[in-house]
Amino acid sequence: MIKAELIAIGSELLTPYRIDTNTLWLTEQLNSQGIVVSRKHIIGDDSTALAELFLQAGQRSDLIIGCGGLGPTFDDISRETLADSLGLELVYKDEIWKWINERYKIRGKMPSENNRRQAMVPERASYFKNEVGTAPGLLIRKEGVIYALLPGPPAELEAVFGAMKSELFSGLEVKPVYRRNFKLVGVPESAIDQQLKDFSLEPGMDWSILASYGEVEINFRLQSDSETQAEMAFEKTEKKLRELFGTYIFGT
Ligand code: AMP
Ligand code: MG
Repeated sequence: MIKAELIAIGSELLTPYRIDTNTLWLTEQLNSQGIVVSRKHIIGDDSTALAELFLQAGQRSDLIIGCGGLGPTFDDISRETLADSLGLELVYKDEIWKWINERYKIRGKMPSENNRRQAMVPERASYFKNEVGTAPGLLIRKEGVIYALLPGPPAELEAVFGAMKSELFSGLEVKPVYRRNFKLVGVPESAIDQQLKDFSLEPGMDWSILASYGEVEINFRLQSDSETQAEMAFEKTEKKLRELFGTYIFGT
């Protein structure tokens, strides 16, 4: 199983005013390719903390994706921090500088000198054009671990991820993740838990129980090479679940 860690980078994400949505979107993209997110982190614009996290994550996971902090300003530290953590030099790419100039020209403006930072790339990294903004995405493979950096603004993140994904996923042996979720009403979470004590899951399946006001969700998840096999496993699971909670299930 390929394990991924996602890092949302930006001090604004540690305030009550901004929420990290990028990692939700990324998780969906990865899951659809069979990659499970094992940890998510939110970290400020703090190169010491970020460097420590890159090193730890590289020890335990296969894929580490950071988003944010690729802008031109002093607090955008992702590119330099990743290069430093991996012991790589940053090299200037004139090709990127030309794209950046073109992006500005569309708006009838000229880039500032600090935009040149966005044309710096860790040696050996692949880079991916940003059709929406100026910061390119970066991808580095080191000692069997993949590190990727994406820009923070969601539209840019999505565009750059789109450009990056075939290279990101190439060579990874992955199985898609399938899910079936059930919504129940009228039975408390604790009673569900009791009834599910002896519930046997199909091989490889896992689950979680989520309570919210007035309803409880039971979510089943399975990685499988075959949609048909996943479907069969979920059918068996659903049958058993309906035997236990038939009248309480109001949505699948
Ligand atoms: P940055 O790439 O760090 O300059 O981020 C620029 C902008 O992208 C921020 O002001 C946020 O509005 C947005 N942004 C950054 N990270 C995230 C995130 N994880 N989720 C949603 N929006 C984000
Ligand atoms: Mg930022």
